[in-house]
Amino acid sequence: PITTYFTANFIIGRLMSIIGISKAWNISPKFLTLEIAGKLSVNPSAIESASQDFGHIVKAIPEAVLHPSSAEDIATLVKFSYNSSVPFSIAAKGHGHSVRGQAMANNGVVVDMTSMKNHRNGSGIRISSDGCCADVGGEQLWIDVLNATLERGLAPVSWTDYLYLTVGGTLSNAGISGQTFRYGPQISNVYEMDVITGKADFHTCSPKKNSELFHAVLGGLGQFGIITRARIPLEPAPKRVKWVRMLYNDFSAFTRDQELLISINGRKDKNALDYLEGSLMMDQGSPDNWRSSFFPPADHPKIMSLITEHRIIYCLEVVKHYDDQTKSTVDMELQQLLKGLSYMPGLMFEKDVLYAEFLNRVRSGELKLKSQGLWDVPHPWLNLFIPKSQIADFNDGVFKGIVLERNITTGPVLLYPMNRKKWDDRMSAVIPDEDIFYTVGILHSSGFNDWEAFDDQNKEIMHFCGKAGIGVKQYLPHYTAKEEWIQHFGSKWKTFQQRKHQFDPKMILSPGQRIFNNN
Ligand code: FAD
Repeated sequence: PITTYFTANFIIGRLMSIIGISKAWNISPKFLTLEIAGKLSVNPSAIESASQDFGHIVKAIPEAVLHPSSAEDIATLVKFSYNSSVPFSIAAKGHGHSVRGQAMANNGVVVDMTSMKNHRNGSGIRISSDGCCADVGGEQLWIDVLNATLERGLAPVSWTDYLYLTVGGTLSNAGISGQTFRYGPQISNVYEMDVITGKADFHTCSPKKNSELFHAVLGGLGQFGIITRARIPLEPAPKRVKWVRMLYNDFSAFTRDQELLISINGRKDKNALDYLEGSLMMDQGSPDNWRSSFFPPADHPKIMSLITEHRIIYCLEVVKHYDDQTKSTVDMELQQLLKGLSYMPGLMFEKDVLYAEFLNRVRSGELKLKSQGLWDVPHPWLNLFIPKSQIADFNDGVFKGIVLERNITTGPVLLYPMNRKKWDDRMSAVIPDEDIFYTVGILHSSGFNDWEAFDDQNKEIMHFCGKAGIGVKQYLPHYTAKEEWIQHFGSKWKTFQQRKHQFDPKMILSPGQRIFNNN
């Protein structure tokens, strides 16, 4: 009867594929005995979507895609690979917003984490009765976490600029934004997680329980386990924000003011800003970009002429939250904080918006680009961390040198500082060894035929940093050779490797990072 079953499957599968409806029938026979076989798909659209990401640069075709309805489904798949004589690779895919294939699995299985959302029956985001924290599925988008927590007047404190990313995806990197200088990255704001390791073991971990796994997974680039739940601290959410941008033509004044402002950074310090970022403005046709539309149209000509005059203008951006109790004092507090800063006279701009509108500020730009067909294009991005002591050299050599010379930069360029003490060195994330370091994000969009030119610029930047001895670390790192990874992790490499042997000894998880498996 088994032979008959497979013969029938084969014939039906062939017929269906001839008429273009192939499916579960065509999955590799090795999966057919699995109880989750019905959740494995080889549907061309599922395979196609798992073969690409936001970067549109790398393509890797998996053998199948798992649409799990529970953590047990994921554990079953990992266990099957772990016990196979030839283990196959498995990549959790959150929202696929990596830019270099990090959530892909060439010839392996991609776990479409978002499928879990449909099976949670509303339990994907659960707020504790005392409101101190939320238990959130690893597959949940931060925008959904925001909306659910705001309903209770609460919110997490550490964010990314863009909220259509999954909790598991950002916790595998760090999760940074303008709140990081004060609250630390998102990985510093997790109480506890449920994780399925590369051995298919299911563990709850925290700083006290299975702490090695907890620290390994945070910033761990998906190498040690699949996060199925994270417990995130919550605080009362503010109602509105004062949102201010100031323009500089002098880089040292710009960074001096940024560093001064992030020096007040106590979590409970009422005098601290709630958000601080910065960006470069170069001639790209408008002072606004997809990441934010901020400046009043009437001021565009004035700003554009400054950009023409100076070629690079630096924009310092800050936010102060307020609610009904602080409504009457927020302006004065902000004035006090910004007193004595060295921005160009008259070039301060202010907005007053709802807290949720501020946090979700990138969405409108995304929708606009989507409507123009300009969102799903190649994104040869370069994200870096740079020690404070070398940020001026970086500005001179990279922005005033390479970037102006090549004159091809399109898209936002971010530059803002953070405090090292808000990061936990036991975690896998890698940062420079200085109390203050900067993040630089060069967020190019390109055409399908010219992304290499941007990639060449990125390589030239990395080469310059190497030659100039700038202690740069990549954020959302992408390397192709093992030696580069060893250099990236530096003193953390040994621990990273040991943890891999402990939690994923058969090198099954997240092969698209190309750290242990070079497929
Ligand atoms: P994916 O791309 O799906 O996965 C990323 C990695 O994590 C892969 O290796 C994958 O295997 C692994 N992974 C995914 N889910 C899990 C899980 N549940 N458990 C274990 N491993 C998992 N980052 C910031 O820090 N700050 C920003 O402001 C910011 N803005 C961005 C804006 C845009 C428009 C984009 C495209 C990206 C931005 N990023 C930002 C980067 C983003 O945080 C990372 O690319 C993140 O990995 C994306 O999440 P994702 O859900 O799409 O992950």
